[in-house]
Amino acid sequence: MSPRRLVWNGLRVPFITPWSAERMLPGTIELRRGRGGVGIGYRDEYSRADRWRDALWVRVPARPGVGRPLLDGVHALRQRQAMNHTLCQVCSKSTVGTRRDERQLFVAGAGSGRPFAEGEPTTTPPLHELCALEAIRECPHLARGYVASLVEYTPAWGVAGIVYDPRTLRPLPSGDGEDLTLVEYDDPLIRWTLAARAAVTLHGCTPVTVTLHGCTPVTVTLHGCTPVTVTLHGCTPVTVTLHGCTPVDFAA
Ligand SMILES: [Zn+2]
Repeated sequence: MSPRRLVWNGLRVPFITPWSAERMLPGTIELRRGRGGVGIGYRDEYSRADRWRDALWVRVPARPGVGRPLLDGVHALRQRQAMNHTLCQVCSKSTVGTRRDERQLFVAGAGSGRPFAEGEPTTTPPLHELCALEAIRECPHLARGYVASLVEYTPAWGVAGIVYDPRTLRPLPSGDGEDLTLVEYDDPLIRWTLAARAAVTLHGCTPVTVTLHGCTPVTVTLHGCTPVTVTLHGCTPVTVTLHGCTPVDFAA
């Protein structure tokens, strides 16, 4: 079954964007002793749904398209699905086999001011080139600046989540001012973490810039009105060039 394309106010809503009907569900956290040791768990835990690789995960319903999109958020389970299956974070289709060199494109806001580092963990799923262009155009935090890399290998690494204090069972503040803390699967803290994102590490990174060619603005006149400029997208085949790479043609 092909993924459903969700549109809101004329904009395509990315696959990993949560909707207002998908707010996090409450769950009572308590101490639990499991096969891997002591850690946190839900009082009414159903491990097949609540755990992934031993980590406890936030509970969120899956109701995409219901309500309004929360454009600055991330749906935890669709993000995990995208990371685990190498799906595009915008259109939800696989990014495997979409490039001759088998590399994956990763794009993130340029908050750090530096490109992805070799072996750096990330919670940002990959994108297709055209979907990356759309995200850079429409996403405010990417429009302010972004970093992009073509990546050869992305092994699973850990999660980003809320770490709980083993003594008080209260959430601990993140050490770096972020909302979530990155925790590796091999770290004993993984059993004290309520996961909200899956993380992979990036290897074989080549920084690139993403540029669209062949999509020029056109001016039209609506009679009785003032001329307006519109940009046509997806009407004709366009060429996307990732600088430092071989140009490839896409039929939009
Ligand atoms: Zn895509």
